[in-house]
Amino acid sequence: MEDCLFCKIIAGQIPADIVYEDEYAVAFRDIAPAAPVHILVVPRRHVSSILEASGCPGLMDHLLEAVANVARAQSIDGPGFRMVANTGADAGQTVHHLHLHLLAGKTLGPMA
Ligand code: AMP
Repeated sequence: MEDCLFCKIIAGQIPADIVYEDEYAVAFRDIAPAAPVHILVVPRRHVSSILEASGCPGLMDHLLEAVANVARAQSIDGPGFRMVANTGADAGQTVHHLHLHLLAGKTLGPMA
């Protein structure tokens, strides 16, 4: 996708603080962190949201494997983390390339 910010990060056309890469996924620090640890885990393949991902066999399996690898590498697997996938306007999705927010590094408190 030509105009997709996260596709450009994955392609190395825009700099990002990349913390993890594998064949299917890339993870980088959010530019406006909402917690001490705030990492976005994205599929290399452009899918616009979790709705589209449901039609791509294996994609979420790979993405969740990447989440677990990132969590272990960042040592947030023990204390815990929150995973969020904003989907659509009401959820505030601003980048239309599927991404899982990993939020951690403090007690996050209750949410919905
Ligand atoms: P969302 O609102 O769920 O679509 O999340 C998009 C996220 O991308 C926001 O948390 C932004 O802070 C983050 N973001 C936007 N531009 C960049 C960038 N260049 N590098 C890293 N994160 C970004």
